[in-house]
Amino acid sequence: MSRDELPLLPLAASLHLADRHFFSLSCRGCQRMVDMGVRRAVRLANGQRTEDWLARLRCIECGSRGASIQFRADTRNAEAIARDGPLPVCQEE
Ligand SMILES: [Zn+2]
Repeated sequence: MSRDELPLLPLAASLHLADRHFFSLSCRGCQRMVDMGVRRAVRLANGQRTEDWLARLRCIECGSRGASIQFRADTRNAEAIARDGPLPVCQEE
């Protein structure tokens, strides 16, 4: 079984981490990458399985369907987070 065939967590399983984490979606056609907040992804997927939602996404650059997903952390230090607040991507609703 390749890495791409492993089952994915439901998007909503990451909601409790939404203030400090986000998703990076990557087009399977052209590798264009878009960051998306956890709350926004959950809203847009609207209950679909993560794999089904990713398969339906269409790239605005090349028109391909299908994206891969990475779960990423806000890696700034505590001082920077206190000074600058949450990342804009983490605040997407
Ligand atoms: Zn693309």
